[in-house]
Amino acid sequence: MNFRSLRRFSSKIPAIVTDIDGVMIRGGVQVGNSAKAVTTLKTPLKQLNPTRFGHLSAEKVPFICLTNGGGMMEEKKAESVNNILGLQAPYEFRGEDMVICSTPLKEIAYKYENEYVVVSGFGDVVNVAYNYGFKKALHIHEYSALFPFLSPLTTKYKDQAILDAHLEAMQKRLGSSFDIAEVQKKGVSSIPVKACIAFHDVSEMEESLQIFCDLIVSKDGIPGSKRSMADPQVVDVYTTNPDLLYSAAFSLQRFGQGIFEYCLEDLFNRTYGFAPEIIQYGKPNKNTFQYCQKICEKAASKEGLGISNFYMIGDNPLADIKGANQMGWTSILVKTGNYQPEEGQTNDLENPATHVVDNFSQAIELILEAENIL
Ligand SMILES: [Mg+2]
Repeated sequence: MNFRSLRRFSSKIPAIVTDIDGVMIRGGVQVGNSAKAVTTLKTPLKQLNPTRFGHLSAEKVPFICLTNGGGMMEEKKAESVNNILGLQAPYEFRGEDMVICSTPLKEIAYKYENEYVVVSGFGDVVNVAYNYGFKKALHIHEYSALFPFLSPLTTKYKDQAILDAHLEAMQKRLGSSFDIAEVQKKGVSSIPVKACIAFHDVSEMEESLQIFCDLIVSKDGIPGSKRSMADPQVVDVYTTNPDLLYSAAFSLQRFGQGIFEYCLEDLFNRTYGFAPEIIQYGKPNKNTFQYCQKICEKAASKEGLGISNFYMIGDNPLADIKGANQMGWTSILVKTGNYQPEEGQTNDLENPATHVVDNFSQAIELILEAENIL
């Protein structure tokens, strides 16, 4: 085979997107020997197959972790996965390899760079939002601390020390140009809100439900005004994980972030008689899978390569397999997590995967063999 035909032969490589929990990790420990399979994928292609890829410099198989988890920066998530799997340089995951539930919001942050945005969710979400480019993001607790009368059911706001702690954090992040005393004096109209975002699991839900509803029904992003169904919704609403249930430590599945959206829709509808417009991110939504697709295509194009096939490895038919199937990707369902087939069942009935295998290592073997990489 001459050089030109070799180049043609290797001008396309596969891209692999994998879920984390129930696939590589379960209950904080490694599933099987997932680390070994990750190490293979993190090895330059020219080392894996010198005959076919000898002409490439450092290209590896584009490989992304896609999870509906969140509440932290991507770098932190990578660090935690590396620790559990015992991965070390040069085979470790980096922040850019992680797509958590909020990551695709990076693409829309520019729209809100100079706008007030209220974010809700457990963990470090307001700093994550700030780092994405939402420079005037306020956590829902901070917004409540500015205007405690908005959240009368959240009894902890009767404690001034709690309010002060939120105000202090907000002041530190937004700088001295944000005059808290002045904002409080002028009231809610001094900071019109352009978007509200459930960045991660919403705790103390009554507070977020109340304020999101106030903002969605407002005419101008200021709680207090009330538009009718015929008026356009001026506050954009985003959620990042539609999962109703997820597997945790207890034997029965637990409610996931998705319940916030269901409650919000229902409450808004009951209160105002029409439905709110909500833009949903997170698996199985197409926008989240498209985001991963773009990252993989960009990585491959650095060395002039294209993508032969996209693969999604997951344990959840409703999130991972449904999403991948919608995109026309090859979906691979593993049996180490959410999917527990009944006796005699060989695939999920509602969202059947292209392949069903025992575990992550088998999935990687299947892909590398099908793509003539090993
Ligand atoms: Mg999973």
